[in-house]
Amino acid sequence: MSASIDYNKYEAVIGLEVHAQLLTESKLFSSDSAAFGGAPNTHISPVTLGHPGTLPFLNRKAVELAIRLGFACHCEIERENFFARKNYFYPDLPKGYQISQHTAPICVGGYVPVTVDGKALDVRLNRIHLEEDAGKSMHDQDPHNSLIDYNRAGVPLVEIVTEPDLHHADEAYAYLTELRRLVRWLDVCDGNMEEGSMRCDANISIRLKGETHLGTKVEVKNMNSIRNVKRAIENEIKRQIDLVEAGGVITQETRSFDASNGSSFSLRSKEEANDYRYFPEPDLAPFSLTDEFLAGIRKSLPELPEEKAQRYVRELQLPEYDARVICDDKATATYFEALIAATPHHKAAANWMLGPVKSWLNDQNADIDAFPVQPATLAALIAIIAEGKVNFSIASQRILPALLEAPHKDPLAVATELNLIQDTDAGSILPVIEAVLAKYPGKVAEYKAGKKGLIGLFVGEVMKMSAGKADPKLTNELLLKQLNG
Ligand code: ADP
Ligand code: MG
Repeated sequence: MSASIDYNKYEAVIGLEVHAQLLTESKLFSSDSAAFGGAPNTHISPVTLGHPGTLPFLNRKAVELAIRLGFACHCEIERENFFARKNYFYPDLPKGYQISQHTAPICVGGYVPVTVDGKALDVRLNRIHLEEDAGKSMHDQDPHNSLIDYNRAGVPLVEIVTEPDLHHADEAYAYLTELRRLVRWLDVCDGNMEEGSMRCDANISIRLKGETHLGTKVEVKNMNSIRNVKRAIENEIKRQIDLVEAGGVITQETRSFDASNGSSFSLRSKEEANDYRYFPEPDLAPFSLTDEFLAGIRKSLPELPEEKAQRYVRELQLPEYDARVICDDKATATYFEALIAATPHHKAAANWMLGPVKSWLNDQNADIDAFPVQPATLAALIAIIAEGKVNFSIASQRILPALLEAPHKDPLAVATELNLIQDTDAGSILPVIEAVLAKYPGKVAEYKAGKKGLIGLFVGEVMKMSAGKADPKLTNELLLKQLNG
């Protein structure tokens, strides 16, 4: 940063356009496979290739998924819909036009609630519309030629467009994280930015703080992760401020982000912008959405992640943080639901999810679906802790690893086999206590002189000497009796 520039004089204005590939089996206007990858040019047909005489037909599932997302984002759903042709020439667009709802979106308005630094913010949406994806040009596969793979051509997309409501890269980061959670939660899109099934273009302008009109925007593309969107926005805000402070003028252009050095370069300027000559697609009939169709989709919506988290706080008295983490993805929340259905110890259940379960998943770099221990078994483990048969550290450090090796075993049986059942017999704990107190006469004297915190040391020593098997609560009671009696 140049020392003389006061970056705080400026406010950034950011609007995001996200393209999300819908999780349909087939393409938006043909029965070709919409699956990611595949050998190049195997998911194609004359329709995808735009051969003369072929006719597109609309994929009903794609319409349903767009509406599903629209409901979840509190949008209004447009009843009367049609598609338009967006005409331009590009090798990856074999028809010479893209079929899009750009001129009349199926979902209008709405918002996505996010939390940034503990503050709630509703990011308003302008629209969600349906359109088909283009193919992929590859410039790095052959030394002399660019190659084209049309597998992606015609894959259904929704484009989710925000109002220019964001002012910080952090807000964009939070919004994209929430949007990705939503599309995954709703099974609308796999949200994979690395593979390009979710892509984000960031529109950025700056203005002096206090100004209300919008400045000239620059669009930045080609970020393959949410973190890179944040980096690209930070970089672009700084670039614009530096430019203006140096006496320059911002021109409307599209730039490409280069993640390797965190900067961007110009792809095209406004002067080169196409006139797309939109007109209604003559090969597709307009379509109306009925009340029954919409009601059916609304009924099929799952409880949304934020609603679920709030319910956990309200009904299970979970801390907000725990509830949020559990609702990060649907599979984790589903596991947790099965767990709390099998145990009344809800906070303990959350502690297991956030503690031992999460750390195992992190170590293995795995999803909850890969966790070998079933919710009922974990509930049984929580039960024997609650009954005082084992304590939490023994359970998490000894019994859980054994269960991960043999997930179908019963936790109590494992505890018994490994000789880990907690000692709740005062008769056998007392001699250990006496041995510990005899070992630390100095500490005992300090305790009696008022240093009550030493109780922790004594308990710890008893636990150690009993190989973790002494019941900590009983140990505590017996120790107090010995020391104070
Ligand atoms: P275009 O027709 O160029 O795509 P749109 O009006 O559709 O422009 O807006 C595209 C995105 O850019 C939206 O997310 C919108 O909120 C955002 N946007 C529009 N104007 C500005 C601006 N001056 N600064 C920042 N973002 C903007
Ligand atoms: Mg646009």
